[in-house]
Amino acid sequence: MYGSNPHLICSLCDHNPEFKSFQMFLTHLYGTTHQQKLLELVPLSNKLQRLSAALDEPTEINYEAVTFVFWDIKMCPVPRGCSPRRLGPCIKRFLENQGYSGPLTITAIGVLTDVDSDILEGVYSSGIDFNNTPECFEFISTLHYLLSGLKDKNPPPANIMVITSDEFFSSKYAVTLQSSGYNLQPSPFGSPFFLEGSGALEDDKCSYETSESALWICTVCDYLSGRGFENFTTHVNSRRHNRKLLDYLPANDRFTREYPLNHGD
Ligand SMILES: [Zn+2]
Ligand SMILES: [Zn+2]
Repeated sequence: MYGSNPHLICSLCDHNPEFKSFQMFLTHLYGTTHQQKLLELVPLSNKLQRLSAALDEPTEINYEAVTFVFWDIKMCPVPRGCSPRRLGPCIKRFLENQGYSGPLTITAIGVLTDVDSDILEGVYSSGIDFNNTPECFEFISTLHYLLSGLKDKNPPPANIMVITSDEFFSSKYAVTLQSSGYNLQPSPFGSPFFLEGSGALEDDKCSYETSESALWICTVCDYLSGRGFENFTTHVNSRRHNRKLLDYLPANDRFTREYPLNHGD
């Protein structure tokens, strides 16, 4: 033991007298009064850091909330040997297995006219919406656009699954989404779900279900939308769509690839 008790005074909290014991001093140091006093001294930038640290804490998942799946069809194409007609129900089941039971919207994003039309028809008939983009659009920029619309129409809670490369999940978009209170589901890309020959998509429970016609949006044509696969095919083959595509070409290409105006449609 020490010969005499040292003086236990908190100079920060001047209203406090000397503490009678070390235990009381500790209690004070971890107490609200002292901690608040400390915070007043912390520069604003540090406070903001603490705030963002709090936001990084995992969002509480609302399993009954609406779920959106955004699928990068170029990065993660339909695996060979799997029926595109089973994709929609299979993604639904994949999510149900994880506890998600809310309304589900799946959107395939990319240059859909580059996808084999049989595969495309299968995907569409399995209840997956389309977002057809110009070649020069990155998946991430289309996604960013869709997500900003989503924030207005579907404020949290909502669950978002993005099927793309893992890089997305360390991007500012992913961080922003999570800090806004959305639950971001890890991408199943690379999981057995999307691997060829895994059997995950061959399961009999994933049988084809006729669903009401999915929605298609043509981002090329200022977000023109419609329903029905035939209507989509007719649209992307139309003169209107092909002329609009020219707007996305560099000026030089545009000159040589201009659609003949006298060519009947
Ligand atoms: Zn104190
Ligand atoms: Zn179009």
